[in-house]
Amino acid sequence: MKPEAMSVRKLPRKVHFGMGIISRTRFFMNWLLHRQSQACIACGTLTGRFSEYAGICTTCSVQIPWIYKIRCVHCGRPTFCPDCVRPVRSARYYVCNRSATSYTPMMREWIGQFKYRGNEKYASALGEIMNRAYRAMRHEFAGDVHSVLNRSLWSVDIVTCVPVSETRLTERGFNQAQVLAEEIAKRNKLPFVPLLARPQDTGKQSFKTKKDRISTMDNAFAVIPDMAELLKSLVLKADSRYTSDRIQSATVLLVDDIYTTGSTLQACARVLGEKAAEQGVHLAIFCLTLARS
Ligand SMILES: [Zn+2]
Ligand SMILES: [Zn+2]
Repeated sequence: MKPEAMSVRKLPRKVHFGMGIISRTRFFMNWLLHRQSQACIACGTLTGRFSEYAGICTTCSVQIPWIYKIRCVHCGRPTFCPDCVRPVRSARYYVCNRSATSYTPMMREWIGQFKYRGNEKYASALGEIMNRAYRAMRHEFAGDVHSVLNRSLWSVDIVTCVPVSETRLTERGFNQAQVLAEEIAKRNKLPFVPLLARPQDTGKQSFKTKKDRISTMDNAFAVIPDMAELLKSLVLKADSRYTSDRIQSATVLLVDDIYTTGSTLQACARVLGEKAAEQGVHLAIFCLTLARS
């Protein structure tokens, strides 16, 4: 028996055939919406087979270009990295970056749908992709090794994100990096704190050369006015478990959507690290990005 035939037979005859025009339209609309909700958000195929990434069908999910093997331990590149082997390399203000996937045309489309077209349906799926990369990161740095105090040797104290300017925020209505950071924080019961601000708009990075990007990035970010108090209260809470040192330290996870040259993360980590140090707090900043171009 065909599935359509089954569903029609399941309906009580008098309801189906004796309905007025309004009820029939409502019935049809509900049926249409139900069918629509069965469609993959990426390819639009009506499917009953969804992956663990909300709204993404199994066919699309197997095409996610995961970065499994990291060749550059600094920036998380899966291939030979000419940037990080350069002998005269500028100082790095973050420990390292890890990206969930490569920036393939498919990822560009998914991120574009989410970031520029405000398609909120992607938030959960991209959040889960990020979360998988976070779990891999935890495995890489902490493994199963615990200290004598039964505290993992690597754990994140604060999740924060790369900020967008007020203009961009008004334009888009949300900060895509913040949505991703909050997804990680929520799934791992970690505090999300927006520690950074972007006072000046540096324009669209994608239209600039590498050199231009680095120079405009230098003063693009600032810490939020009450960063010191926020940081201290969080660090004290996290630190009281295992240390009585006067110098306090914290591990920060800095989240963004795309890693291109690393200059955005570099500028954020620099201002964050320097301002925290002024308060006597040493930050170990680890970056996590959705896609690596
Ligand atoms: Zn699909
Ligand atoms: Zn590298």
